Amino acid sequence: MTSHRQAAACPRTPQLSLAFSGSAPTVRRATPPETRPAMPDAMKCPNCQSEHAYQDRDLWVCPECAHEWSATAGAAADAPQEAGVRDAHGNLLTDGDSVIVMKDLKVKGSSSVVKGGTKVRNIRLQDATDGHNIACKIDGIGAMNLKSEFVKKA
Ligand SMILES: [Zn+2]
Repeated sequence: MTSHRQAAACPRTPQLSLAFSGSAPTVRRATPPETRPAMPDAMKCPNCQSEHAYQDRDLWVCPECAHEWSATAGAAADAPQEAGVRDAHGNLLTDGDSVIVMKDLKVKGSSSVVKGGTKVRNIRLQDATDGHNIACKIDGIGAMNLKSEFVKKA
């Protein structure tokens, strides 16, 4: 009797759902650590890099060098304009960049000339009091120090 078999199968369904509710999975989703917006207490002094700067209304105050700056502007202007080595067009240069020499440069102490248009790869920025703030190696000439004002980013 087919009609009887169908009726007998019915009670199984509620049992099944009971089993599910009894063993509710306890898996919890891993919540990724929230990337918090730059908190005020992490503000560094743009002048002396002190981490002890504190906020005073709309101003940040550095207790170490007495520098004061706007709280709103400080967040946006993360990289101060004067920081970094820039090429002839004002583009920021970084270690490993390739640059092109823009004019013939005489190599001090030798008769060599670095021709304008020479591509220099893998530059290294350095602090230089005489303005030669790029250390690099030029094919055929060797290790050189260039001034960033005579190069452009390749
Ligand atoms: Zn400071």
